[in-house]
Amino acid sequence: MTLPFENFTRVINARGTYTPLGVSRSPEPVVRATAESLRHFFDMEQLADQAGHEIARITGAEWGCVTHCTAASITLSCAALMTGINVIHINQLPNTTGMRSGIVIQGGHLVNYGHPIEQAVRLSGAKVLSAGTKTRCTSEELYDTLRHDNVAGLLLVKSRLCQGDMVPVPAAISMVHELGLPVIVDAAAQDLQMEKLLSLGADLTLFSGQKYLASPTAGLVIGKRDFVQAVHAQERGIGRGMKAGKEAIVGVIAALQYRHREKRDSWIAAQKEKADVFAQHLNDLDHVRAELVEDPLGNPFSRVRAWIDQDSSGVSARDVEKVLSAGAPMIVVQDHAESERALMFEIVALNREELETICSRLATILPDGGASQ
Ligand SMILES: *Cc1c(COP(=O)(O)O)cnc(C)c1O
Repeated sequence: MTLPFENFTRVINARGTYTPLGVSRSPEPVVRATAESLRHFFDMEQLADQAGHEIARITGAEWGCVTHCTAASITLSCAALMTGINVIHINQLPNTTGMRSGIVIQGGHLVNYGHPIEQAVRLSGAKVLSAGTKTRCTSEELYDTLRHDNVAGLLLVKSRLCQGDMVPVPAAISMVHELGLPVIVDAAAQDLQMEKLLSLGADLTLFSGQKYLASPTAGLVIGKRDFVQAVHAQERGIGRGMKAGKEAIVGVIAALQYRHREKRDSWIAAQKEKADVFAQHLNDLDHVRAELVEDPLGNPFSRVRAWIDQDSSGVSARDVEKVLSAGAPMIVVQDHAESERALMFEIVALNREELETICSRLATILPDGGASQ
Protein backbone atom coordinates (compact mmCIF):
# COMPACT_ATOMS: atom_id res chain seq x y z
CA MET A 1 0.00 0.00 0.00
CA THR A 2 1.37 3.44 -0.87
CA LEU A 3 -0.63 5.72 1.35
CA PRO A 4 0.85 9.03 2.39
CA PHE A 5 0.46 8.25 6.09
CA GLU A 6 2.78 6.56 8.50
CA ASN A 7 1.63 4.79 11.64
CA PHE A 8 -1.94 4.02 10.74
CA THR A 9 -3.41 0.84 12.11
CA ARG A 10 -4.14 -1.95 9.65
CA VAL A 11 -7.77 -3.00 10.01
CA ILE A 12 -9.35 -6.37 9.32
CA ASN A 13 -13.00 -5.42 9.07
CA ALA A 14 -15.21 -8.43 9.86
CA ARG A 15 -18.03 -6.12 10.85
CA GLY A 16 -19.48 -5.52 7.41
CA THR A 17 -20.02 -2.34 5.40
CA TYR A 18 -19.32 -0.17 8.38
CA THR A 19 -18.78 3.55 7.77
CA PRO A 20 -16.33 4.22 10.66
CA LEU A 21 -13.97 1.58 9.18
CA GLY A 22 -13.90 2.83 5.61
CA VAL A 23 -16.93 0.76 4.50
CA SER A 24 -15.54 -1.40 1.66
CA ARG A 25 -12.65 -2.05 -0.69
CA SER A 26 -13.09 -1.56 -4.41
CA PRO A 27 -12.16 -4.14 -7.06
CA GLU A 28 -9.28 -3.16 -9.36
CA PRO A 29 -11.39 -2.13 -12.39
CA VAL A 30 -13.30 0.29 -10.15
CA VAL A 31 -10.09 1.66 -8.66
CA ARG A 32 -8.65 2.20 -12.17
CA ALA A 33 -11.76 3.90 -13.57
CA THR A 34 -12.00 6.17 -10.53
CA ALA A 35 -8.32 7.12 -10.71
CA GLU A 36 -8.56 7.72 -14.46
CA SER A 37 -11.46 10.14 -13.98
CA LEU A 38 -9.19 12.36 -11.90
CA ARG A 39 -7.05 13.04 -14.99
CA HIS A 40 -9.88 14.64 -16.96
CA PHE A 41 -12.34 17.49 -17.21
CA PHE A 42 -15.94 16.58 -17.99
CA ASP A 43 -19.11 18.27 -19.10
CA MET A 44 -20.75 17.32 -15.81
CA GLU A 45 -24.34 17.50 -17.12
CA GLN A 46 -23.35 15.13 -19.91
CA LEU A 47 -21.69 12.80 -17.39
CA ALA A 48 -24.85 12.85 -15.22
CA ASP A 49 -26.96 12.12 -18.29
CA GLN A 50 -24.78 9.20 -19.35
CA ALA A 51 -24.83 7.87 -15.79
CA GLY A 52 -28.64 8.05 -15.88
CA HIS A 53 -28.72 6.05 -19.14
CA GLU A 54 -26.28 3.45 -17.83
CA ILE A 55 -28.11 3.00 -14.50
CA ALA A 56 -31.35 2.58 -16.46
CA ARG A 57 -29.76 0.10 -18.88
CA ILE A 58 -28.23 -2.05 -16.15
CA THR A 59 -31.13 -2.00 -13.67
CA GLY A 60 -34.11 -1.79 -16.02
CA ALA A 61 -35.41 1.23 -14.08
CA GLU A 62 -36.54 4.45 -15.81
CA TRP A 63 -33.69 6.63 -14.60
CA GLY A 64 -31.00 7.11 -11.97
CA CYS A 65 -28.64 9.68 -10.56
CA VAL A 66 -25.67 9.80 -8.21
CA THR A 67 -25.43 11.90 -5.04
CA HIS A 68 -22.74 12.24 -2.41
CA CYS A 69 -24.05 9.38 -0.23
CA THR A 70 -27.31 7.80 0.90
CA ALA A 71 -27.81 10.26 3.75
CA ALA A 72 -27.66 12.96 1.05
CA SER A 73 -30.03 10.92 -1.13
CA ILE A 74 -32.58 10.81 1.71
CA THR A 75 -32.47 14.60 2.16
CA LEU A 76 -32.64 15.27 -1.58
CA SER A 77 -35.39 12.71 -2.21
CA CYS A 78 -37.55 14.32 0.47
CA ALA A 79 -36.81 17.66 -1.17
CA ALA A 80 -37.81 16.23 -4.56
CA LEU A 81 -41.13 14.98 -3.21
CA MET A 82 -41.87 18.49 -1.93
CA THR A 83 -40.67 20.59 -4.90
CA GLY A 84 -40.79 18.45 -8.02
CA ILE A 85 -38.83 20.43 -10.63
CA ASN A 86 -40.44 23.75 -9.63
CA VAL A 87 -37.40 26.05 -9.60
CA ILE A 88 -38.98 28.59 -7.26
CA HIS A 89 -39.64 25.88 -4.70
CA ILE A 90 -36.18 24.36 -5.17
CA ASN A 91 -34.59 27.75 -4.50
CA GLN A 92 -36.80 28.36 -1.51
CA LEU A 93 -35.87 25.24 0.51
CA PRO A 94 -35.46 24.59 3.39
CA ASN A 95 -38.39 27.02 3.68
CA THR A 96 -41.38 24.87 2.71
CA THR A 97 -44.10 27.55 2.61
CA GLY A 98 -46.66 26.64 -0.04
CA MET A 99 -45.55 22.99 -0.31
CA ARG A 100 -46.76 19.79 1.28
CA SER A 101 -43.92 19.02 3.65
CA GLY A 102 -44.87 15.98 5.75
CA ILE A 103 -42.79 12.83 5.25
CA VAL A 104 -44.39 9.79 6.87
CA ILE A 105 -42.12 7.18 8.51
CA GLN A 106 -43.19 4.12 10.49
CA GLY A 107 -41.84 4.11 14.07
CA GLY A 108 -39.66 1.03 13.58
CA HIS A 109 -38.04 2.66 10.54
CA LEU A 110 -36.69 5.58 12.57
CA VAL A 111 -33.21 4.05 12.39
CA ASN A 112 -29.90 5.51 13.45
CA TYR A 113 -27.10 4.67 10.96
CA GLY A 114 -24.68 7.15 12.55
CA HIS A 115 -27.26 9.87 12.99
CA PRO A 116 -31.03 9.59 13.24
CA ILE A 117 -32.71 9.29 9.83
CA GLU A 118 -35.18 11.98 10.95
CA GLN A 119 -32.34 14.48 10.80
CA ALA A 120 -31.60 13.64 7.16
CA VAL A 121 -35.31 14.28 6.45
CA ARG A 122 -35.50 17.51 8.48
CA LEU A 123 -32.41 18.86 6.73
CA SER A 124 -34.56 19.31 3.59
CA GLY A 125 -37.10 21.37 5.53
CA ALA A 126 -39.58 18.46 5.63
CA LYS A 127 -41.37 17.45 8.81
CA VAL A 128 -41.35 13.86 10.02
CA LEU A 129 -44.81 12.41 10.64
CA SER A 130 -44.21 9.16 12.47
CA ALA A 131 -46.75 6.36 12.24
CA GLY A 132 -47.20 3.81 15.04
CA THR A 133 -44.42 3.21 17.57
CA LYS A 134 -40.91 1.70 17.53
CA THR A 135 -42.40 -1.71 18.19
CA ARG A 136 -45.56 -1.72 16.10
CA CYS A 137 -47.29 0.03 13.22
CA THR A 138 -50.53 -1.39 11.85
CA SER A 139 -51.92 -0.80 8.34
CA GLU A 140 -54.65 1.36 9.90
CA GLU A 141 -52.11 3.54 11.72
CA LEU A 142 -50.05 3.96 8.57
CA TYR A 143 -53.14 4.74 6.50
CA ASP A 144 -54.41 7.34 9.00
CA THR A 145 -51.04 9.09 9.08
CA LEU A 146 -50.80 9.12 5.28
CA ARG A 147 -54.22 10.83 5.14
CA HIS A 148 -53.02 14.05 6.83
CA ASP A 149 -53.40 17.11 4.56
CA ASN A 150 -49.76 18.00 4.58
CA VAL A 151 -48.26 14.67 3.44
CA ALA A 152 -45.68 14.84 0.63
CA GLY A 153 -44.91 11.11 0.68
CA LEU A 154 -43.73 8.05 2.56
CA LEU A 155 -40.18 7.01 3.46
CA LEU A 156 -39.62 3.26 3.98
CA VAL A 157 -36.41 1.70 5.25
CA LYS A 158 -35.07 -1.74 4.39
CA SER A 159 -32.26 -2.39 6.85
CA ARG A 160 -31.17 -4.74 9.59
CA LEU A 161 -31.45 -1.69 11.87
CA CYS A 162 -35.27 -1.66 11.52
CA GLN A 163 -37.25 -2.80 14.54
CA GLY A 164 -40.67 -4.06 15.50
CA ASP A 165 -43.70 -5.22 13.63
CA MET A 166 -44.11 -2.77 10.72
CA VAL A 167 -46.24 -2.81 7.58
CA PRO A 168 -44.09 -4.75 5.10
CA VAL A 169 -42.46 -2.72 2.33
CA PRO A 170 -44.52 -4.17 -0.59
CA ALA A 171 -47.85 -3.62 1.22
CA ALA A 172 -46.85 -0.09 2.26
CA ILE A 173 -45.91 0.76 -1.35
CA SER A 174 -49.31 -0.43 -2.61
CA MET A 175 -51.11 1.56 0.08
CA VAL A 176 -49.31 4.83 -0.59
CA HIS A 177 -49.74 4.48 -4.36
CA GLU A 178 -53.48 3.87 -3.93
CA LEU A 179 -53.59 7.23 -2.15
CA GLY A 180 -51.80 8.81 -5.13
CA LEU A 181 -48.71 9.66 -3.08
CA PRO A 182 -45.03 8.92 -3.85
CA VAL A 183 -42.74 6.65 -1.85
CA ILE A 184 -38.99 6.48 -1.21
CA VAL A 185 -37.27 3.26 -0.11
CA ASP A 186 -33.96 3.64 1.73
CA ALA A 187 -32.19 0.36 0.93
CA ALA A 188 -28.67 1.71 1.53
CA ALA A 189 -26.99 -1.62 2.33
CA GLN A 190 -29.27 -3.84 0.25
CA ASP A 191 -27.68 -3.32 -3.17
CA LEU A 192 -27.14 -7.09 -3.56
CA GLN A 193 -30.93 -7.30 -3.82
CA MET A 194 -31.26 -4.32 -6.14
CA GLU A 195 -33.28 -6.12 -8.80
CA LYS A 196 -35.84 -7.48 -6.35
CA LEU A 197 -36.20 -4.16 -4.50
CA LEU A 198 -36.60 -2.16 -7.71
CA SER A 199 -39.32 -4.55 -8.86
CA LEU A 200 -41.47 -3.36 -5.92
CA GLY A 201 -42.11 -0.16 -7.89
CA ALA A 202 -41.18 2.59 -5.41
CA ASP A 203 -40.83 6.03 -6.99
CA LEU A 204 -37.29 6.37 -5.67
CA THR A 205 -35.07 3.59 -4.27
CA LEU A 206 -31.79 4.55 -2.60
CA PHE A 207 -28.60 2.50 -2.39
CA SER A 208 -25.14 3.34 -1.10
CA GLY A 209 -22.38 3.02 -3.68
CA GLN A 210 -19.67 2.33 -1.11
CA LYS A 211 -21.33 -0.54 0.75
CA TYR A 212 -21.46 -3.96 -0.99
CA LEU A 213 -21.22 -2.36 -4.44
CA ALA A 214 -17.76 -1.12 -3.35
CA SER A 215 -17.56 2.07 -5.39
CA PRO A 216 -16.16 5.34 -4.03
CA THR A 217 -18.50 7.01 -1.52
CA ALA A 218 -21.73 7.81 -3.36
CA GLY A 219 -25.50 7.46 -3.26
CA LEU A 220 -27.50 5.87 -6.06
CA VAL A 221 -31.02 7.17 -6.56
CA ILE A 222 -33.01 4.93 -8.91
CA GLY A 223 -36.62 5.09 -10.02
CA LYS A 224 -39.20 7.10 -11.93
CA ARG A 225 -37.65 9.60 -14.29
CA ASP A 226 -39.53 12.69 -13.04
CA PHE A 227 -38.64 12.06 -9.41
CA VAL A 228 -34.99 11.26 -10.15
CA GLN A 229 -34.74 14.46 -12.19
CA ALA A 230 -36.26 16.38 -9.29
CA VAL A 231 -33.54 14.90 -7.03
CA HIS A 232 -30.78 15.90 -9.46
CA ALA A 233 -32.29 19.41 -9.79
CA GLN A 234 -31.67 20.00 -6.07
CA GLU A 235 -27.95 20.40 -6.91
CA ARG A 236 -28.85 23.99 -7.77
CA GLY A 237 -30.42 24.38 -4.37
CA ILE A 238 -29.88 22.67 -1.03
CA GLY A 239 -28.06 19.81 -2.78
CA ARG A 240 -25.00 21.83 -3.70
CA GLY A 241 -23.06 20.42 -0.75
CA MET A 242 -24.35 16.90 -1.42
CA LYS A 243 -23.35 16.50 -5.05
CA ALA A 244 -21.27 13.61 -6.33
CA GLY A 245 -17.89 14.45 -7.82
CA LYS A 246 -16.77 13.12 -11.20
CA GLU A 247 -14.72 10.39 -9.51
CA ALA A 248 -17.79 9.16 -7.60
CA ILE A 249 -20.02 9.10 -10.68
CA VAL A 250 -17.43 7.31 -12.80
CA GLY A 251 -16.64 4.94 -9.92
CA VAL A 252 -20.30 4.04 -9.35
CA ILE A 253 -20.84 3.26 -13.02
CA ALA A 254 -17.68 1.15 -13.12
CA ALA A 255 -18.87 -0.74 -10.03
CA LEU A 256 -22.33 -1.36 -11.51
CA GLN A 257 -20.76 -2.60 -14.74
CA TYR A 258 -18.35 -4.81 -12.81
CA ARG A 259 -21.18 -6.40 -10.85
CA HIS A 260 -23.26 -6.77 -14.01
CA ARG A 261 -20.41 -8.71 -15.69
CA GLU A 262 -19.74 -10.85 -12.65
CA LYS A 263 -21.49 -14.22 -12.52
CA ARG A 264 -23.82 -13.98 -9.53
CA ASP A 265 -24.02 -17.74 -9.01
CA SER A 266 -20.26 -18.20 -8.88
CA TRP A 267 -19.92 -15.20 -6.56
CA ILE A 268 -22.46 -16.77 -4.19
CA ALA A 269 -20.73 -20.17 -4.39
CA ALA A 270 -17.29 -18.64 -3.73
CA GLN A 271 -18.64 -16.74 -0.69
CA LYS A 272 -20.25 -19.91 0.63
CA GLU A 273 -17.06 -21.90 0.26
CA LYS A 274 -15.01 -19.19 1.97
CA ALA A 275 -17.46 -19.17 4.90
CA ASP A 276 -17.40 -22.99 5.16
CA VAL A 277 -13.61 -23.10 5.25
CA PHE A 278 -13.44 -20.30 7.84
CA ALA A 279 -16.03 -21.99 10.07
CA GLN A 280 -14.10 -25.25 9.77
CA HIS A 281 -10.85 -23.57 10.86
CA LEU A 282 -12.64 -21.95 13.79
CA ASN A 283 -14.07 -25.33 14.77
CA ASP A 284 -10.53 -26.71 14.88
CA LEU A 285 -9.93 -24.43 17.88
CA ASP A 286 -10.85 -25.73 21.31
CA HIS A 287 -13.55 -23.72 23.19
CA VAL A 288 -15.05 -22.56 19.87
CA ARG A 289 -18.10 -23.80 17.99
CA ALA A 290 -18.68 -22.09 14.68
CA GLU A 291 -21.69 -22.13 12.35
CA LEU A 292 -23.02 -20.28 9.32
CA VAL A 293 -25.87 -17.80 9.81
CA GLU A 294 -28.00 -16.73 6.86
CA ASP A 295 -28.61 -13.02 6.37
CA PRO A 296 -31.98 -12.24 7.99
CA LEU A 297 -32.91 -9.83 5.16
CA GLY A 298 -32.28 -12.39 2.44
CA ASN A 299 -28.92 -11.16 1.14
CA PRO A 300 -27.10 -13.95 -0.72
CA PHE A 301 -24.32 -14.60 1.80
CA SER A 302 -23.91 -16.07 5.27
CA ARG A 303 -22.09 -14.71 8.31
CA VAL A 304 -20.07 -16.94 10.63
CA ARG A 305 -21.03 -17.13 14.28
CA ALA A 306 -18.44 -18.49 16.70
CA TRP A 307 -19.74 -19.48 20.13
CA ILE A 308 -17.06 -19.14 22.81
CA ASP A 309 -17.36 -21.63 25.66
CA GLN A 310 -16.77 -19.38 28.66
CA ASP A 311 -16.91 -22.23 31.20
CA SER A 312 -14.02 -24.09 29.63
CA SER A 313 -12.00 -21.12 28.34
CA GLY A 314 -12.53 -18.63 31.17
CA VAL A 315 -13.15 -15.79 28.71
CA SER A 316 -16.39 -14.39 27.33
CA ALA A 317 -16.97 -13.56 23.67
CA ARG A 318 -16.98 -9.91 24.74
CA ASP A 319 -13.49 -10.31 26.27
CA VAL A 320 -12.20 -11.91 23.08
CA GLU A 321 -13.75 -9.15 20.97
CA LYS A 322 -11.99 -6.48 23.05
CA VAL A 323 -8.60 -8.14 22.66
CA LEU A 324 -9.10 -8.59 18.90
CA SER A 325 -9.95 -4.93 18.40
CA ALA A 326 -7.11 -3.70 20.60
CA GLY A 327 -4.41 -5.55 18.67
CA ALA A 328 -2.49 -4.99 15.45
CA PRO A 329 -3.93 -5.57 12.96
CA MET A 330 -7.13 -4.30 14.54
CA ILE A 331 -9.80 -6.99 14.06
CA VAL A 332 -13.38 -5.75 14.31
CA VAL A 333 -16.38 -8.10 14.51
CA GLN A 334 -20.08 -7.45 14.27
CA ASP A 335 -22.33 -6.24 17.05
CA HIS A 336 -25.26 -8.63 17.56
CA ALA A 337 -27.78 -9.82 20.11
CA GLU A 338 -25.57 -12.63 21.46
CA SER A 339 -22.35 -10.58 21.75
CA GLU A 340 -21.66 -11.89 25.30
CA ARG A 341 -21.50 -15.48 24.10
CA ALA A 342 -20.56 -15.46 20.44
CA LEU A 343 -18.51 -13.54 17.90
CA MET A 344 -20.19 -12.71 14.57
CA PHE A 345 -17.98 -12.34 11.51
CA GLU A 346 -19.06 -10.80 8.24
CA ILE A 347 -16.43 -11.95 5.80
CA VAL A 348 -17.80 -10.95 2.38
CA ALA A 349 -14.99 -8.45 1.83
CA LEU A 350 -12.18 -10.45 3.46
CA ASN A 351 -9.61 -12.69 1.79
CA ARG A 352 -8.29 -16.04 2.99
CA GLU A 353 -5.07 -14.58 4.39
CA GLU A 354 -7.07 -12.20 6.58
CA LEU A 355 -9.30 -15.05 7.75
CA GLU A 356 -6.20 -17.05 8.70
CA THR A 357 -4.92 -14.05 10.64
CA ILE A 358 -8.20 -13.99 12.57
CA CYS A 359 -7.88 -17.71 13.41
CA SER A 360 -4.29 -17.40 14.57
CA ARG A 361 -5.11 -14.35 16.70
CA LEU A 362 -7.95 -16.29 18.32
CA ALA A 363 -5.50 -19.09 19.06
CA THR A 364 -3.28 -16.66 20.96
CA ILE A 365 -6.22 -15.35 23.01
CA LEU A 366 -7.77 -18.67 24.01
CA PRO A 367 -6.05 -20.82 26.70
CA ASP A 368 -3.48 -23.35 25.41
CA GLY A 369 -3.45 -21.59 22.04
CA GLY A 370 -6.95 -22.91 21.39
CA ALA A 371 -5.45 -26.36 20.90
CA SER A 372 -7.49 -29.45 21.60
CA GLN A 373 -6.06 -31.47 24.42
C1 LIG B 1 -25.57 3.27 5.66
C2 LIG B 1 -26.99 3.68 5.68
C3 LIG B 1 -27.37 4.98 5.35
C4 LIG B 1 -26.38 6.06 5.07
O1 LIG B 1 -25.63 5.77 3.94
P1 LIG B 1 -24.39 6.69 3.55
O2 LIG B 1 -24.12 6.31 2.14
O3 LIG B 1 -23.28 6.34 4.50
O4 LIG B 1 -24.81 8.10 3.72
C5 LIG B 1 -28.71 5.28 5.33
N1 LIG B 1 -29.64 4.37 5.62
C6 LIG B 1 -29.32 3.10 5.96
C7 LIG B 1 -30.40 2.13 6.27
C8 LIG B 1 -27.97 2.71 6.01
O5 LIG B 1 -27.65 1.45 6.32
